[in-house]
Amino acid sequence: MAVIYERVALIGLGLIAGSMSLAMRRAGVAGEISGYARTEATRETARRIGLVDRVCDTAIEAVEDADLVVLCVPVGAMGAVTKEIAPHLKPGATVSDVGSVKKAVVEAVGPHLPEGVHFVPAHPMAGTEHSGPESGFAELFDNRWCLIVPEAGSDEAAVARLVDFWQALGSNTEQMEVEHHDLVCAVVSHIPHVIAYTMVGVADDFRRVSEQEVIKFSAAGFRDFTRIAASDPTMWRDVFLNNKQATLEILGRFTEELFALQRAIRTGDGDHLFEYFTHTRNIRRGIIEAGQDTDAPDFGRGKPK
Ligand code: NAP
Repeated sequence: MAVIYERVALIGLGLIAGSMSLAMRRAGVAGEISGYARTEATRETARRIGLVDRVCDTAIEAVEDADLVVLCVPVGAMGAVTKEIAPHLKPGATVSDVGSVKKAVVEAVGPHLPEGVHFVPAHPMAGTEHSGPESGFAELFDNRWCLIVPEAGSDEAAVARLVDFWQALGSNTEQMEVEHHDLVCAVVSHIPHVIAYTMVGVADDFRRVSEQEVIKFSAAGFRDFTRIAASDPTMWRDVFLNNKQATLEILGRFTEELFALQRAIRTGDGDHLFEYFTHTRNIRRGIIEAGQDTDAPDFGRGKPK
């Protein structure tokens, strides 16, 4: 594939940046990839495994001459990082990000950027519960969605180039407006994480079920919650602090549904439960038909090693 950006700088070298670097190399769409991480330990690991072509000791060094700069740090850190790099950005460069929240990122990043630098926020809807530079893999974005969230009046050529870039990394792309993005992600990602964190917390608190039993019988459903609840605490703290409005709205609706189910269980309303579960089962089938998960028994996991 042809080079899309001659020089790409990744700020933050964790799961998403690492996967981007590997996917860029696989696709051959970047001439040179530079990278910066906050701690020497992460930079050292990135050097050792050859994660990017050039690991820099400062964010400023990493972005100099870059045609595309991608912010791959927790959402709450994006404003400060942008302030630091802004005076060193190349005129005509594109700045993007991979943050799981968009309104707060646009508000934190946008005001720091100089005239002539294009800001095109994006969010690859792909991830795992692992983090750090060694957790990345080239296939992470394959057949997953990357939401491109340009502001009104964004440079069309810059947006189109970033769309090409994410498609080359394996993603399907869709453009979305900022507020809508945050609401959609609250439904499909943020609230499921709150529920998983809560369920694991409840099980831990429920002293009548011993810890051994929770682990031993976890395949009954609990195990899937624990995987989600193992996600990075910093990242998820920042998601909730920065997507308050949408998460509180969806959490309110969730609570209403929960009360309705609670009532159906208490009153023995089997018809309600059956209809509800039939409806939700169909949603699962839709996800499989859309190629976003496997219908293999047990999620195709096989036997744990
Ligand atoms: P990660 O593996 O934990 O990596 C985060 C990187 O950011 C590390 O290199 C870390 O540096 C750096 N960093 C952390 N705090 C920082 C700070 N205050 N200032 C500067 N750098 C800092 O995280 P990730 O999963 O790749 O997530 C990165 C971004 O992608 C987040 O905005 C997240 O919302 C978004 N995202 C994540 C997923 C997912 O499932 N993981 C999916 C889609 C989008 P050190 O290692 O040196 O501390």
